[in-house]
Amino acid sequence: MPEQEQTQRVIPGAKPFPENIVMSGIRPTGFLHLGNYFGAIRNYIRMQENFTCYFMVADLHSLTTHPDTSALKSGVMRVLAENIACGLDPEKAAFYCQSHVPETSELYLYLNMLAYKGELEKTVTFKDKVRQHPENVNAGLLTYPVLQAADIILHRASYVPVGKDQEQHLEMARNYVNRFNHRYGDVFPEPQAFNFNEELVKVPSLDGTGKMSKSENNMATLYLADDDDLIRKKLMKAKTDNGPTTEFAEKPDYIENIFQLMKLVSSEDVLKKFDEDYNSCRIRYGDMKKQLAEDMIRFISPIRQKAADILADETYLKNVMMTGAEKARESASKTMELVRTAMGLKYF
Ligand code: AMP
Repeated sequence: MPEQEQTQRVIPGAKPFPENIVMSGIRPTGFLHLGNYFGAIRNYIRMQENFTCYFMVADLHSLTTHPDTSALKSGVMRVLAENIACGLDPEKAAFYCQSHVPETSELYLYLNMLAYKGELEKTVTFKDKVRQHPENVNAGLLTYPVLQAADIILHRASYVPVGKDQEQHLEMARNYVNRFNHRYGDVFPEPQAFNFNEELVKVPSLDGTGKMSKSENNMATLYLADDDDLIRKKLMKAKTDNGPTTEFAEKPDYIENIFQLMKLVSSEDVLKKFDEDYNSCRIRYGDMKKQLAEDMIRFISPIRQKAADILADETYLKNVMMTGAEKARESASKTMELVRTAMGLKYF
């Protein structure tokens, strides 16, 4: 049967689109690190003051790469505790676990019909994962960006605080939104990656290759749970060289990375001093790394200690999850009413 063009319908209650809705998530696949903080959590904390925020622990996403669920519960608890220790306030934002909001899976199913195999296969993160785990190239992994789009648009969010690695996924989410709206009627605003008008962040790894991440090369990533000695050890091992031999030389990537980390946690004066030392060929990388280690410890150690206290209180974390799921489901059920109406899935 030839496909028939659906006529554009106005969906009662869908317009105007809600404003100032924010959505983002982090997978419970390991310890949170500096990249998670500066790419995502820092903005969660700023946005929760003036926006309607939905933040979640993306446990369903983690199943695409971690089918063994024996460590899942402890991973979920850790992500909850570490986010709260960083300043996420579950009273201000809805902070929930993805699998506690089953509407996500329903929307994911509908969006899958609007996503095409060819474009999914071209996704950079999919190609990376195929290289890393050639033995587990499952359909969930292929459709990871579709699930992520469902998470975001389930609350009809416009703003998504994420790191630079998520740019392509956001573009795909906008494609699905446009396809849905075009086919069934305007239900969803287009979501945008958000970082307060600044460039999206990528926190580099300490070995000079790629970004900090939960699972690759633990010694090249600074975790929010690292103790002081380990932070010192990791930073002292960061790659450097003998220093520049001409004034105002361009910084090699691995040196630029150290300056970038310093920019995140050290004072402007400290950064300026080492920048001047570099430009006048007087830089001593040993001193720079020692200074960076102390500034990093001042940043990480209060978070580590607070997270440990929160993690010990399972009743509190359970309440956070239950309250968060309630808030998220209230928003999700409203969206799904609009979606089912728009799609013509209501027969009585
Ligand atoms: P993930 O750890 O992949 O679940 O990512 C959770 C959030 O942290 C996402 O918003 C990512 O964009 C962000 N993120 C992860 N690693 C980094 C990094 N190295 N630099 C900046 N943002 C990151």
